[in-house]
Order: sequence, then C-alpha cells, then structure tokens
Amino acid sequence: MSRLVDAVRVRAATARHRGGAVQCPLCEHGFDRFKDEWNRPNALCWRCGSHERHRAQWLLLHRHRPELLEDARALLHFSPEWCLRDQLESLSHLRYVTTDLDPAQDVELRLDVTATGLPDDAFDAVICSHVLEHVPDDAAAMRELRRITALDGWCLVMVPLALDRATTYEDPTITAPEDRRREFLQHDHVRLYAPDIADRLRAAGLDVEVVDLTRELGADGAARHGLLASDLIFLCRPA
Ligand SMILES: [Zn+2]
Repeated sequence: MSRLVDAVRVRAATARHRGGAVQCPLCEHGFDRFKDEWNRPNALCWRCGSHERHRAQWLLLHRHRPELLEDARALLHFSPEWCLRDQLESLSHLRYVTTDLDPAQDVELRLDVTATGLPDDAFDAVICSHVLEHVPDDAAAMRELRRITALDGWCLVMVPLALDRATTYEDPTITAPEDRRREFLQHDHVRLYAPDIADRLRAAGLDVEVVDLTRELGADGAARHGLLASDLIFLCRPA
C-alpha cells in the first residue's frame, strides 16, 4: 500500500515539477528545480530520489570518464543507493556486487569494510561513498580498499566534507548520539572529514585524484545538475 502511494506521489511530483531549469543525469528527467531536503534547498530528484553526490558520481562515471566503467569487469559497491544501483545493475558487461554491513539492507554480501575477507585485487572497480565517516578505524578501511582494488583498477571515495576545515576533526571520547550529531553532523558519524582525507588515503597506499565537478562544469553546469562544491570525489588507484 505505502509503496503504491509512494509511486503515485513520485509520479505526481515529477509531473508537477517538469521543466528545463535543472536536469537529473541519473533518470534524465528535467524539472523546474530539485526538491528541498530538510537541511538544504534544491537537493533531491523528484523522480529517482538522487542526491547531489549521486548525480556527481554518475556524471563522472557516465559522462566525464566513461572509460572507468567501460573498462571495468567487476564492481563492488558499498552501501549502494537505489538510484545508482539501478543504473549500475543495468550494465550488462559488468559483474556488479552490492555489500552492506547493515542486515536490514538488501545486498549480496555482508562485508565489514575494515576486514572484508575478499582476496587481494578482488575487484577492478569499487565505490565507497558515505561509509568511512561511520568507521572508527578508517585507516584499516582504507588499507582494505587498497588491498581489494586491482592494481589497474580504481576506487571512488566520497564522504561528507567540511571544506572550511584544514584538518579532519575526530574525538573518540564523543560517543553520545546527540553529541555526534552536533560535532560530526549525524548521530552515527565518528568524525568530520576535511579535504585532508586525501592524505589519509595516500597513507593507505592509494594514488588520489581529487575531482571537483562543480569546477569542471562551472557555475551554470553545477546548478543545472544540482551539485555541491563540498561533494569532492576522491578517485583512488593503488599506488
Ligand atoms: Zn533523477
């Protein structure tokens, strides 16, 4: 019942906001604007539910660097979001594998990113977006991402970023959900990353290319696709 109601609501909102001012690269629908999220305007796609970071990832993988997906044979996706999952599952040349530690999620593998148990070089493409800010030992997670990514492969990393901070903020004594929400943006985040996450990834043995799509596309392009400057993409390759 609720799924049916949701589907009807999505269809109605998609029709009501149809337009040409913004465009979602995932579902390729155009709208007058994106839907507001509780803490920011112009955030969500009316149709597929994509957030700014999902649109940035798909723009990179589908339009700006299509070779990343075209050359990949097996992709491991940590905590996959449905809007991206639908697109990636439709790529017939790719063995697409989903994983999440949360037993409530409908995924193929139940893996801990700090100790996956996978063989070395298991995947030539890995997406790990909005996961590391939940992981106490992120250095172990980054080493594990390095280990399971094939030498000629890539690993896409994104985290919530505070662009105004010079260094990542963490304090293991902050454990109460309300304190973590105040300090780290969400009740289950264990730190607030700054762009120096790139140094942590390098320390784990990864070469890191920092992709800023808002700069590549310019202000008009970023606004058209509803992108955020803080959604830097860390495109990593084994060093
Ligand atoms: Zn969409």
